[in-house]
Formats: sequence, C-alpha cells, structure tokens
Amino acid sequence: MPYVAGGVAMVTSGSKKRPESGLEYGAGGSGKQAKQHDRQLHRPSNQPGIVDSESGETDLSTSEGEEDSSWISWFCALRGNELLCKVDEDYIRDDFNLCGLRGQVPHYDHALDMILDDDSSISGEMDGEELIEIEHAAELLYGLIHARFIVTIRGLNAMQAKYKTAEFGRCPRVFCAGQPCLPVGISDTPRNGLVKIFCPKCEDLYLPRCKYQSDMDGAYVGTTFPHLYLMTFPSCKPAKPTQSLIPRVFGFKLHNNSR
Ligand SMILES: [Zn+2]
Repeated sequence: MPYVAGGVAMVTSGSKKRPESGLEYGAGGSGKQAKQHDRQLHRPSNQPGIVDSESGETDLSTSEGEEDSSWISWFCALRGNELLCKVDEDYIRDDFNLCGLRGQVPHYDHALDMILDDDSSISGEMDGEELIEIEHAAELLYGLIHARFIVTIRGLNAMQAKYKTAEFGRCPRVFCAGQPCLPVGISDTPRNGLVKIFCPKCEDLYLPRCKYQSDMDGAYVGTTFPHLYLMTFPSCKPAKPTQSLIPRVFGFKLHNNSR
C-alpha cells in the first residue's frame, strides 16, 4: 500500500542534507516528507529544546554530553516533532516489537535501515525520488513504532519526562490554569486523523498550538497513550476543575429555558 502524504501544507524545497549523513534528500520531493525537510534540520541554539524546569537550561545533547547524530535524534529534533520521544534502538531492533508493520510500510527494510543509521543498503544507485519515498516510509515506520513504544514502561517513562516540562503544550481552557497536556490520536490507523492534545484535567481534546505539531499523524501516538499514562502514573492525574463558566447577562444567571 503506497504511502500517501496527508493533506497538509506542502512545501517543496531544494536539496537538504542530514548532517553526518552522506545522503541528500529533497531533490524534486513533495508531500509531507518535503515539508519535513523544509523544517530546520538542526534545532538552533536559540530555539527551545528540552528545558529543565528547575535550572532553565536547555539540553540538546545526550546524557554523556556528546552530540547524538543518529537519525532518531535528528528526526525527533525536527520542528513539529516535539510530541515524539526517542525510541530506544534496542526496542526497534527487536523484531517482536515490529510485528505486523511490514505490511503497512512500503520500502520496509530500507526504511528500517534508515532509522537505525544503516545507510549501506540505501545509498548507491538509488535516485532522489526513491530516497524521498524511503524517507516517507521511514517517517511512517518510526511513527508506528513510536506509538507502540510509548505504551511500554520505558516509553511511558520517556514521555513522562516531556510531560513534566509541558513539552506537549498546555490546556487552553482558562479554568484548567495551564494544565500540561498529553498527545493523543483519534485513530490508530495511519492517515486517519491528525494528532491532538488531551487535557487530563478537563478531559477534552484540543489542537496543538504549534501548526507544525498539528500536521503530525495521530497514529504516531495512538488512542491509548494518555489514558494508559494516567493509569500508570496516577499521581500525574490532576484534580477535576472546580470552576466552570456561568453565563450571565447584565449580571443575572441565565434561566435554564433560555440556554
Ligand atoms: Zn483542560
């Protein structure tokens, strides 16, 4: 089943190269992948990254203090992909975790190699168009793996770190007082709805504030994640809002019959 990019704003840009990679992408590309590549490849130092809420410091490096140049790090750092966490390579290398994905992703083997930085099978005689297709597939494959990973303990912990720093955004509802939200999909099937954010306080869905984030396929997060997260970490579940809007006209509450 060929991958068809979603109906979001597409930008075709010139050729761009992933740093530390010998591959060039983007030549003649279109669709979502071209949009991805039109994003900044490197998160500039003056852009917000993973912010430590206590120190206010931005951490763009690995825990060892060295820059992580892997495809996964690069992809997760693209503008709009802030809702995604880094999936452990060990998880991706375990075939059991990828069961059933081969039939959903074209160029499956090449896409998997790209995600795992095994470029030896990708470079060579492939033309730009083929590379673009593989990049499409790699994004789709990573997204589907991500949806599985974040409902494991390791994945839930990885997402907890982002939730605690409100990287998924905050609830726009006034009475939720800036409650941090969690990402959610309205379908587990790819190309069946874009990602939303779920407020655990008012338990409603909202569009991500960042338009780049709202272009992401909801299946990359899935329908289960926020609810399993709150079951796993009940202390993260906030109390229900105590206030709600009482409509008034000239100071008088509206009669039920007038609503
Ligand atoms: Zn809310």
